[in-house]
Amino acid sequence: MEVTTVDKNLYYVNISNFLSTWVYKDEDLCFLVDPGPSFTIKLLKKNLEHLKIGSNDLDFILLTHVHIDHAGGVGNLIEYFPRSKIICHPNGIKHLINPEKLWRGSLKVLGKAAELYGKIKPVPKNRIQFQKNVRNGIIKVIETLGHAPHHQSYIFDKTLFVGEATGFSFSTPEFIYMRPATPPIFDYDIYVDSIQKLLSMGLSNHRICYPHFGMRDNAHLMINHGYKQISTWLKVINNFYEKRKDINFMENLISELKKEDQIFSNSKLLDKEIRSRNSTGVKNSIYGILGYIEKKKFKNIKV
Ligand SMILES: [Zn+2]
Repeated sequence: MEVTTVDKNLYYVNISNFLSTWVYKDEDLCFLVDPGPSFTIKLLKKNLEHLKIGSNDLDFILLTHVHIDHAGGVGNLIEYFPRSKIICHPNGIKHLINPEKLWRGSLKVLGKAAELYGKIKPVPKNRIQFQKNVRNGIIKVIETLGHAPHHQSYIFDKTLFVGEATGFSFSTPEFIYMRPATPPIFDYDIYVDSIQKLLSMGLSNHRICYPHFGMRDNAHLMINHGYKQISTWLKVINNFYEKRKDINFMENLISELKKEDQIFSNSKLLDKEIRSRNSTGVKNSIYGILGYIEKKKFKNIKV
């Protein structure tokens, strides 16, 4: 089985070493965060059965955002769980009801990988809701736009399910690896506003749970790593902007980022397969930041 028990009632299901689907279950409440793409829903279902979550037990499916690797399989999952409510940012709801645009966007950004994730099944409107406070405020919803225009994070019982609001983190007990999660079309100011909002909440006594991947104690410290990292990346990429047409631009930029950003340089400690899968995400994040700088330069605004 791919289930890891983190704490009493809190688990994560390891979906092919790239997505942690977080699952909480006690006598009164059962929810999961980010079910993953349609390709892996059967695997998730099997793991939920292992956790003795029956078809009437799952109260909520919380989506941090509706990108295909997080939410592409939600339409398949709800067929097994007829009474679960999907909680999603208002900007994401239309994409779940009619996923055509989301699918085309996924093909454009991810190419073949989108096909591997699998088609996105439409979700009936009456299964999706936006709530600010889920189950009378036991689960708090925090709008954290930036990685996507339909991104939100959740706080429940000293645990922050952060999504990709502060970046992509592959952290093990031995080391922390992080990089910004800033694909095009990216707005630095919105992304940083969300990070600052999370920092202002003082979550040092909360654990932080990532969809990619795993968890850490002291959410505040980890959010702060994400904050410092995005500032460093903006500075370094801005310094490299004029060289963007050079043949070795990407390679040179990445090695400069590794020099300036210790946590990003820990990519050398990642498993080979994860590292190669992650390299597309690194480039997409760089393109997002480049696009932001370009837009600013076009408007004659100093970055
Ligand atoms: Zn995403």
